[in-house]
Amino acid sequence: MEFEKIPTIPTADEILDRSFRRASRKVRERKNRDRANVAFVYMVSHAVHDRLVAVMQAFPDFDTIPQFYKDIVEILYGTDRIRQSLGAVGWAARFARDHGPGFAYQTRTADETARMRKRAVARLSSVVRQIDPHLRFLNEVRNVLRTLPHVEDTPTVVIAGYPNVGKSSFIRLVSSADPQIASYPFTTKGIIVGHRQAGRARVQFIDTPGILERPPSERNAIEQQAVAAITHLADVILFILDASESCGYPLAQQEGLLAEIQANTDVPVVVAVNKADLAGREGVLSMSALTGEGVDTVLHTLLSLIPPPEAAREGRDPQESQG
Ligand code: GDP
Repeated sequence: MEFEKIPTIPTADEILDRSFRRASRKVRERKNRDRANVAFVYMVSHAVHDRLVAVMQAFPDFDTIPQFYKDIVEILYGTDRIRQSLGAVGWAARFARDHGPGFAYQTRTADETARMRKRAVARLSSVVRQIDPHLRFLNEVRNVLRTLPHVEDTPTVVIAGYPNVGKSSFIRLVSSADPQIASYPFTTKGIIVGHRQAGRARVQFIDTPGILERPPSERNAIEQQAVAAITHLADVILFILDASESCGYPLAQQEGLLAEIQANTDVPVVVAVNKADLAGREGVLSMSALTGEGVDTVLHTLLSLIPPPEAAREGRDPQESQG
């Protein structure tokens, strides 16, 4: 997503100040005060209109962004609320566009152009100030959107398991480049995203500390939606167990989380016991993210469950593959 390209959204006063400054600079040279006043009104409305339109165009069309971002935006703010705010900005932009020429005309035909200019500026200012809360809200949205992780629309392995079982160690081992660590608004810890080329497919690995590390029943509604957003991305889930329990969680508790995750997803869940150098377990894949032993087998098992690129595209919601 290109969210980081969204510029700061100005407040109403910033929009007005900048528009006034630009218009005054342009009419400063004019000798005829009446004409200068008319030109000022015309230019201010133009400048205000342009700045408001720029605000609207700064945001992506929320209908066409990838599902993951739609989910996040919905949880954080509600897409409708953002649409309403953009609608309010549009209303003010149209006001400036539709009334600007009329104000300029009234100024030109007024007995006292200075007074009419003042009145026109006051009307415009009042409309722009009315949408100030919307502008501030949109800037808040912008500030959060630009920190969201880059999640690609490629085959994805989501890693789950209790803290300290070796999830991020595994991602580091299998990712060809250094995994990216970005903020995820629902946890104080960073989301970790790594990639690896596997044949023709670029496979994405995601670990979300603080998100898939607790039983769903212990989460509040927002956390549950945040989990849903992450699990929607998954083609396969890798659940990592630590049989050595050096992570600090009893194995039985870890298996309880595994059962809940299995019950809450439609995608295959691959179970692997990590820290096999410390303690193993019969009947499950085992590996050591420390020595690297068994990691390849786990990786191949995961990749074998990822549909080939064409099939993946056909099987997906068409909206998800956009953006
Ligand atoms: P996460 O919280 O699940 O992401 O766990 P980390 O990847 O941060 O690992 C937690 C701790 O376990 C770190 O100190 C790792 O070095 C250690 N660790 C990870 N994998 C292994 C392993 O296979 N064997 C051993 N002995 N330690 C491991």
